[in-house]
Amino acid sequence: MAVAEEECGPVRLTQEDLNSERFKDYQSVFETCAAQDRSRLAIRRMKIDDEVLLLTVDPMTLETGLERERCLSCAQTQEQDYTSTRFVQALNSSRPRLFNAGLTHGAGEGVYLTGDLCPSGKPLDRNFIEEVIKFAPGAPLALAVSGAWLARHKIDFAWLLNKVQHQELKITWVNHSYTHPYVPGLPDQQNYLLKPGIDLDQEIFETEKQLILQGAVPSVFFRFPGLVADETLQTQLRARHLIALGADAWLVLAPAPRPGSIVLVHPNGNEPHGLRLFSKYLRDGKMPLPFRSINEAP
Ligand SMILES: [Zn+2]
Repeated sequence: MAVAEEECGPVRLTQEDLNSERFKDYQSVFETCAAQDRSRLAIRRMKIDDEVLLLTVDPMTLETGLERERCLSCAQTQEQDYTSTRFVQALNSSRPRLFNAGLTHGAGEGVYLTGDLCPSGKPLDRNFIEEVIKFAPGAPLALAVSGAWLARHKIDFAWLLNKVQHQELKITWVNHSYTHPYVPGLPDQQNYLLKPGIDLDQEIFETEKQLILQGAVPSVFFRFPGLVADETLQTQLRARHLIALGADAWLVLAPAPRPGSIVLVHPNGNEPHGLRLFSKYLRDGKMPLPFRSINEAP
C-alpha cells in the first residue's frame, strides 16, 4: 500500500490508490483499541490489499483516525461502558423529528461553520474557501460531502486537501450520503433518504470509502440530505455510530447567527445567496467569532 507515513503512524492513502476494488470487507464495528498510552474506539474495519485498517475515534475529543489494526490492541466492547464520554453522549442526544434532527446548536462562543457539498454540476465555490482562509488562517471548517459530488469534483477535492496539507484550513469531513436523492416538489416524507428503496448503509459506507480513497479521514458526523430523516433512519444512523448534524443558522433561511450557532452554507455553486450573506455578516461584524471545530460542538 502506498503510504508515506511511518509504520504505525496515521494512514493516509495517496492518489495512486484510487481504486475502490481494493477495498474488501468494509464493516461497522465497535471495539476498544489501545496503543502506547492512548486508547480509542474503532467504528469501522476494512481491508485494503492485505492490510486491515480501522477507523478510530477518540471518545473525548471526537478526532478520528485511520490506523493499521496490527499496530493496535483491540477488543470488542459495548457502549454502556462509554456513556460518560462525549462521543456516546453526543450519539444519545438526538431528538427524533422529521426536519433538522440531531445536533443543531453547539456549545459556547463563536460559530461552527459547515458547508454542504450536495451533488452539483457546478465547480466548488473556491472564493468562499479563500475568504474563510483570508479572514481566519488555519480556521476549522466542516464540509458535508456527498459521494456523488466527490465523484465529479476530484480536482476541487484535491485542491481542498492541498489547503489542509498546507495548514491553511482544518477540514472535518462530514458524510452527506452518496446519492443524496432529491426530487423537486415531492413532500419531505417521500423525499431525500426517505425515498423508497434507499439503502442507508450503502449511502454511508460508499461515501466513507470514497473519502478514504481520496486521502481524507471521515468524521463521526453525518448530515441528512435536506436535513430530513424519520425515526427509522435516525435509529439506523445511530447504530452506525454517527452523529446527526443539523443546523440552526442555514443562512438563506434563518436570522443572523448567534453564539454557538451551527452555520450552514452551500459552497457547491447552488446557493450563492448564502455565501453573500456569509460575507456580509463577516464584514458587518455580525458573525460571532471564532470559527470553531465541529468536534467541539456537542
Ligand atoms: Zn445537501
